[in-house]
Amino acid sequence: MRERVYLSSPHLGGEEINYVKEAFDTNWVAPLGPHVDAFERECAARAGTRAALALSSGTAAATIASAMMNIGNGDTFFCSSLTFVASLAPIVQLGAVPALIDSEPGSWNMSPDALLDAFKAAEKNGVTPRAVVIVNLYGQACDMDRIFEICETYGAPVLEDAAESLGATYKGKQTGSFGKFAYYSFNGNKIITTSGGGMLLSDDEEAIARARFLSTQARDKAPWYQHTELGYNFRMSNVLAGIGRAQLKLLPQRVAERRAVFGRYFEALSREPGIGFMPEPEWSRSNRWLTAITVDPESSGTTNMKIMEALGRENIESRPVWKPMHLQPVFERARYYPHIGRDVSGRLFENGLCLPSGSNLSPEDQNAVIDIVRRELRG
Ligand SMILES: *Cc1c(COP(=O)(O)O)cnc(C)c1O
Repeated sequence: MRERVYLSSPHLGGEEINYVKEAFDTNWVAPLGPHVDAFERECAARAGTRAALALSSGTAAATIASAMMNIGNGDTFFCSSLTFVASLAPIVQLGAVPALIDSEPGSWNMSPDALLDAFKAAEKNGVTPRAVVIVNLYGQACDMDRIFEICETYGAPVLEDAAESLGATYKGKQTGSFGKFAYYSFNGNKIITTSGGGMLLSDDEEAIARARFLSTQARDKAPWYQHTELGYNFRMSNVLAGIGRAQLKLLPQRVAERRAVFGRYFEALSREPGIGFMPEPEWSRSNRWLTAITVDPESSGTTNMKIMEALGRENIESRPVWKPMHLQPVFERARYYPHIGRDVSGRLFENGLCLPSGSNLSPEDQNAVIDIVRRELRG
C-alpha cells in the first residue's frame, strides 16, 4: 500500500529549525518575543499593509476583527456561502445573524450580483448590514473592484478572509490588503504553516494597536492587573512565529509549486469530457492552494464522490468542494441570495472535488492520482 497522499500537508524547507533553536537558545519560549515582532513586520511587508498582528489562528483573527468592527447581538452581516465555517462562526458566536451570498461561476467567489440583491433586500427591510465577509476561495481573489464598489455605496466595511490566499494577487495587488481588516491562516494544511496560527492585517495602525490590546487580555496600563473591558488570549507563540518566518521566505516558491501541480492536472485532465477546472479570471493570479475540479455526471460517466472513493481505496485523500453554508444544518434558517436565480455554490458542492495539491506532492503520486481519475472516467 502506498503511503498516504494528503490533500495538503506541511512542507518544511529546513531553515525552520534554526529559528526555533534561536527561540530556545534565547529562552523566548513564550507568547510574544522577537520572532513575533519580526514575523508581523514581514507579513505586513508581504501583504503591503501598514500593520499586522500575529495571533493563535485565523479563527482568532476573525474573532478580533469582528469585535473591532463592533458586530454584535442581532446585527446582520453578509458572508460568502461557499466557504469554511470559520469565516462566519466567530461572528455568529458574537450574536450576529448571517445572510449568505452565492458565488459567481467565473471565480467561484462572492457574486457581486447576489451581493447587490442582498443589499437591496436589506434596504427594503430597513436593515443595515454591519460588515461583508469576502473569502478568497482556494487561493483565488474575489472580484474586488465590483464588490468594493457595492460595499462603499452601502457604507459596509469589508472583512477579507484571506486564510487560503496568501501570495495570491488581484490585478497585481496582494490579497490580504483589500479589506478594512484581513487575515491569513497558518494552519497545517495552508500554503505555509506555523502548525497553527493566524495574522490580522490592516492599514489602520490604531485599529491594529487596539486589536493587540484586545488579544492580550485587554490589560490597562497599570502596575497591577486592571481591566476596564474584557479581551481574549489569542497571541501567537514566539516559537511558532519562528517557524512562520522561515516558511514565509519560501512563499514565492510554494506558490510556483502549487501552480505547477495545478498545471499538470490541467494538462492531463482538462480535455476529458465532463471535467472542468476552477477558472482563473484575467484579474486573478491564484496561489492554487487546492486544485478543484468539477465532474459532470452526465458527460463524464462518473461522479465526484465515485472518484473520491476510488482515490480513497488507493490511500489518496481528496475532498468535495466546501459544502456551502446555506446547506449546513446550523444555518438552515439563514437568508440566502443566489446568483441571478441559480444556486452556483450548491452546484459546485454537488460536482466539485479537490485533488491532492501539496507543494510537496511528488510527480509519481500526482501521476497515480491522474491515472485513477482517468480510470474512473473510462468506467
Ligand atoms: C483555514 C481557514 C480558516 C480558519 O483558519 P484557522 O487558522 O484554521 O483558524 C478560515 N477561513 C477559511 C476559508 C479557511 O480555509
